[in-house]
Amino acid sequence: MSFNYQEAFETALSAVRAEGRYRVFADLERIRGRFPRALYHGGASPKEITVWCSNDYLGMGQHECVIAAMKTAADRVGAGAGGTRNIAGTTHYHVLLERELAALHRKEAALLFTSGYVANEATLATLSKILPACVILSDELNHASMIEGIKGGRSAKLIWRHNDLRHLESLLKEIPADRPKVIAFESVYSMDGDIAPINEICDLAERHGAFTYLDEVHAVGLYGDEGGGVAQRDGAERRIDLIEGTLGKAFGVMGGYIAADAAVVDAVRSYASGFIFTTALSPVLVAGALRSVKILRTSKSLRERHQERAATLKHRLQAEGFPVMSSVSHIVPVSIGDPVRCKAVSDYLLDRRGIYVQPINYPTVPKGTERLRLTPSPLHTDADMDDLVDALKEAFAHFGMRAAASYRMKTESA
Ligand SMILES: *Cc1c(COP(=O)(O)O)cnc(C)c1O
Repeated sequence: MSFNYQEAFETALSAVRAEGRYRVFADLERIRGRFPRALYHGGASPKEITVWCSNDYLGMGQHECVIAAMKTAADRVGAGAGGTRNIAGTTHYHVLLERELAALHRKEAALLFTSGYVANEATLATLSKILPACVILSDELNHASMIEGIKGGRSAKLIWRHNDLRHLESLLKEIPADRPKVIAFESVYSMDGDIAPINEICDLAERHGAFTYLDEVHAVGLYGDEGGGVAQRDGAERRIDLIEGTLGKAFGVMGGYIAADAAVVDAVRSYASGFIFTTALSPVLVAGALRSVKILRTSKSLRERHQERAATLKHRLQAEGFPVMSSVSHIVPVSIGDPVRCKAVSDYLLDRRGIYVQPINYPTVPKGTERLRLTPSPLHTDADMDDLVDALKEAFAHFGMRAAASYRMKTESA
C-alpha cells in the first residue's frame, strides 16, 4: 500500500487545532490616508475596523511621499528588477538605498535582501561558513530567522539565557581565545518589548574577542537620533560589528538588510546563497524604502509621538488593572496565558467591537505565555484608546477574566 499523503497533512493540522493554535488570516484592506483603519473582509460584508497590531509602527506604508516615490519609480523603470543582483538586477535605486542604509548606521557598507528573515538566515549561515570553527552564541529568545540561519551554517551553537550577561560571560570564558565567536542577539525583543543591554554585551565581546551581530528589526526607524536603532540611541553603533534590519516594519515597505564594515558586507555578498540566487527587490519597493529612510532620518517628532502613545496606552491599561507585561519599548503586551482564551478574546474584539489585535500563541511565544500584543502608533488617537480600553473591559468581563489589580498581582506572583 502506498503512503497516505492526505492523512499525514490532516494529522499535522489536527495537532495544531487541538492545541488551539491553528492560525486564521485576517483578510484586510488597509484604507490609505486613514491609518490605522482598514476594511475587514472576514464577515458577511466588509466592515471597517481599527488595527492595533500592525508592525507598520509609524504608518510610513501610507506616507504620501513614500507612495509618490514608488509611483515615480514604477513610471520610470517599471515593475520588477528583472534579474538577480549579479545578473542585470542591480538598479540605481538599490545602489542609493545601500548607501543610505550604510550612512544611517554609520557603517562602511550595507547590503539588501528580499526580507529581514532572509537577511538573518543568509548572513548567519554565511558567517559560520566563512569563520573557521566558529561558535555562535545565541540569545534564547532570538527570532526564528536567526535560529534557522545558525542551523544552516556549520558553527557550534551555544544558547545563552535571555539578556543574561553572567551566563553569556561564563560561556565566552569556556571558548579558546583564538577561536572565532559570534554573539547574536536582538535590540528590541518584539513579543515582550524588552531591550538588550547592548553596551554591556559589547564590553564582553571586546574582552573575549567576539564579533557582535545585532538584529535591530523592531528598532530601526524608531530609536536613535536618526532612527538607526537602539545601538544608535545608546551610543553603541560603532561597537556593533554587524547590524541587521528590515524595511518592512517601521519603514513601512518591504526588504531586509545588513550594515557593517566593507569587507564583511563584501564577503556576505560574495558567499551568501540567499543573496546571490534570487531576484533583486523590485525597484518600486526600493524607491519607497529609500524615501522612507530619508524621511525618518530627519523626523524626530514621529518617533517622539510614537513613544508618547505607547507610554500613554501602557499607563491607561495598567490603571484599569489589565495584566500589561513589563515592556520598556513601544510594544504593549497584555498577558492572557492560554491559547484558546487568547484567540477567543481576539475574536470577540474583532466581531463585537471592530478592534483587530491578533492573538500571539506558540511557537511565536512559549506555551502558557499567550498574549495580545498591542502596537500603538502616532496615529492612534485618545478616542481610539478609549474605545480599546472599553472593549477590553467588556471582553474580559465576558470571559470571566478580571481586569483588576488583584488579577495582576496573581499573574505576577505565579
Ligand atoms: C520580523 C522579524 C524579522 C524578519 O523581518 P522581515 O523583514 O519581516 O522578514 C527578523 N527579526 C525579527 C526579530 C523580526 O521580528
